[in-house]
Amino acid sequence: MRCQPHQDNQVYIWTKNKQICLLCDETADTQHSLCSACEGELPWLGGHCQVCALPLPAAGLVCGECLKRPPPFARVEAPWRYAFPVDSLITRFKHQAQWPMGRLLAGLLSHHLLHAYGEGLPRPDLLLPVPLGRKRLRQRGFNQAGMLAGWLGAELRLPVQNHWLLRPLEGAHQQELDAAARKRNLRRAFALHASAELTGRHIALVDDVLTTGATAAAIARLLRQAGAARVDIYCLARTPKPGD
Ligand SMILES: [Zn+2]
Ligand SMILES: [Zn+2]
Repeated sequence: MRCQPHQDNQVYIWTKNKQICLLCDETADTQHSLCSACEGELPWLGGHCQVCALPLPAAGLVCGECLKRPPPFARVEAPWRYAFPVDSLITRFKHQAQWPMGRLLAGLLSHHLLHAYGEGLPRPDLLLPVPLGRKRLRQRGFNQAGMLAGWLGAELRLPVQNHWLLRPLEGAHQQELDAAARKRNLRRAFALHASAELTGRHIALVDDVLTTGATAAAIARLLRQAGAARVDIYCLARTPKPGD
């Protein structure tokens, strides 16, 4: 952008360094708006399923569910468990439109992904945000997954396709349906735009939180059927199994 000051400018460096931690209001000593003490206390995902990122007691395992029925996606990447304070940061971003919270979380997720690429995770060809239904989009005014994908795309230098995935059907809130109705609903909920070119491509689907993984699986199935070579899921947080 033309209006942005040049990076070498002293004022720019000063304002850039003087970030305030969004959690404790102290001056942040990191490149993000989060101090290192607060960063260390985030609910980092420990041992987890190598496929769906479900929190597990040990590292390097695949969960029973993924062994029994391998999902249509190759891998879920999430830095955190869905727990305090990440849950409240996500809520403030999503339901109170507090962009700095989303920006911070996206910055930390890109950091996590760059590290994963360094460890051998293949880089995708492009990012696709999980779309919101039209009604929900009207209520909220923005798609949080689309914003996350935009920030990630800029930091990871990956193209983002905001209009390839469509959500033509909007049923009841998924939470209000029983398992069978949810599944039926999901199968019809998503569609692809005619301009989507997926053949042979490695896609990373972007969403804020992965709960049951049913939505991600439904979209991944659709993408694979349309020719995608591989689908990964990038999200901020993974919920533990209910009761854990
Ligand atoms: Zn702090
Ligand atoms: Zn799993």
